[in-house]
Amino acid sequence: MSGIAMPKPSQELLRNKAQIVKDLQRIISGEGVICEEIELRPYETDALTAYRQIPLAVVLPETVEQVSQILKYCYANEVKVVPRGAGTSLSGGALPLADSVLMSMMKFNQILDIDLPNRAVVVQPGVTNLGITHAVQHEGFYYAPDPSSQIACSIGGNIAENSGGVHSLKYGLTTNNVLGLEMVLMSGEVIRLGGKHLDAEGYDFLALLAGSEGLLGVVTEVTVRVLQKPETARAALIGFPSSEQAGQCVADIIGAGIIPGGMELMDKLAIDAAEDFVHAGYPLDVEALMIVELDGPEAEVDRLLQEVSSLATQNNSTYLRVSETEDERNTFWAGRKAAFPAVGRISPDYLCMDGTIPRKALPQVLKRMQVLGEKHGLRCANVFHAGDGNLHPLILYDANNPGELEAAEAFGADILRLCVEVGGVLTGEHGVGIEKRDLMPEMFSETDLKQQQRVKCAFDEKHLLNPGKVFPVLHRCAELGRMHVHKGQLPFPNIPRF
Ligand SMILES: Cc1cc2nc3c(=O)[nH]c(=O)nc-3n(C[C@H](O)[C@H](O)[C@H](O)COP(=O)(O)OP(=O)(O)OC[C@H]3O[C@@H](n4cnc5c(N)ncnc54)[C@H](O)[C@@H]3O)c2cc1C
Repeated sequence: MSGIAMPKPSQELLRNKAQIVKDLQRIISGEGVICEEIELRPYETDALTAYRQIPLAVVLPETVEQVSQILKYCYANEVKVVPRGAGTSLSGGALPLADSVLMSMMKFNQILDIDLPNRAVVVQPGVTNLGITHAVQHEGFYYAPDPSSQIACSIGGNIAENSGGVHSLKYGLTTNNVLGLEMVLMSGEVIRLGGKHLDAEGYDFLALLAGSEGLLGVVTEVTVRVLQKPETARAALIGFPSSEQAGQCVADIIGAGIIPGGMELMDKLAIDAAEDFVHAGYPLDVEALMIVELDGPEAEVDRLLQEVSSLATQNNSTYLRVSETEDERNTFWAGRKAAFPAVGRISPDYLCMDGTIPRKALPQVLKRMQVLGEKHGLRCANVFHAGDGNLHPLILYDANNPGELEAAEAFGADILRLCVEVGGVLTGEHGVGIEKRDLMPEMFSETDLKQQQRVKCAFDEKHLLNPGKVFPVLHRCAELGRMHVHKGQLPFPNIPRF
């Protein structure tokens, strides 16, 4: 792996692999434990494919009791556990460690309860994001957060990464749409948080778990809010002669008090790639393309579309097309939703970054990113949730050319530093994982990071769940004042520091 230090594997655990596998097979019989190298290979990476590591073993539990028993066993024997959903993480969140058990949750694939009077659906964590909408759409409902990976990614992974999508601008991220969870702690204990009711007493643990990146527990059941489909939804394609003008238009639309259902931007490289791949009817003579969707009652949508188009004209737009049918609206989005794989067709490899900035800084940041691209000698395609200020620069490189991965990583780090410099944050929706781990001190002070680790210690004091992710330096819980140190003897002296 390039440049990313991970906790050193325990030689003792590696030597004991056969015994560990035998013990796990006592908990899950049959094909639920995978230990042969050739069968482990598909689990060696997630969508951050630049990094790979075969785990010690993979387990595929089917019941909460099995999850609990496995975690209890791993806790007692100090075996690390990496939870995994569909493996589409772009930040390396599901990357295994050599001495870890990878716990795939994809056999938890049942919809348990559809409760439309309460606008709630209860599902197992391996259900895909889109699967939830499919289960309720015949009744006119849908699940709002819609990552572009929604056909594949699991709701468990969405919670761990606090995923968003093109409609999060108006309807929120995962955290705003989850009502309840069941989760198994590293000790094997099962906890339940929230439910179909509104608001819960006590600390807001649900919010804490959304975006916890598999570091605090394994989610085994999820209750989500579903929404009624809006009466009308229409999308406009608006082309601009430059990304800066498009960025300014985004800021002006929000500044005018309009919150579109979605507002996305693509630059020239991304427009060309998406059009070539999907034939969405995108104009090819513009430098930046905005998709703005307005939804709600028909009269309101018509009025807002007019306001948006006059703001676009004020920002020198050169192209405007409004969807006339549902098919046309879906085609506009199809190009955007396939933009990542489309860019994958024009470059052997790409790194997808995920920083968030205050919207007002968009024109300035887009300009400075161009300069950074020249400095690092790499091309960058921009596809992003413009309304949220959530950037997804796709840095194009070829891993076969020596030094290009390192250059791409350095370019990406510079972009994220820029996001923090203008008052933004390191991640919008893809999580920190290993990708942004070492940049955390750019944003957080030592005290901030220690306080976050104290929360981690409260859930997993042995640091066995998904180690090596999120925190740049792993502090022993004892150092953080969580544990009693008796005569200099630390309770867990073998916790790796890296
Ligand atoms: C082409 C493409 C487009 C994408 N577009 C978007 C987008 O628009 N918006 C967006 O937000 N993301 C996007 N992503 C990123 C990714 O799809 C999301 O982060 C998604 O939520 C990951 O879900 P997963 O099931 O694949 O999880 P995995 O990749 O398997 O795991 C991700 C993290 O979740 C943890 N985890 C998984 N399941 C559980 C569980 N049951 N309990 C506890 N922890 C768990 C893992 O340990 C890991 O830390 C995209 C990815 C790709 C490849």
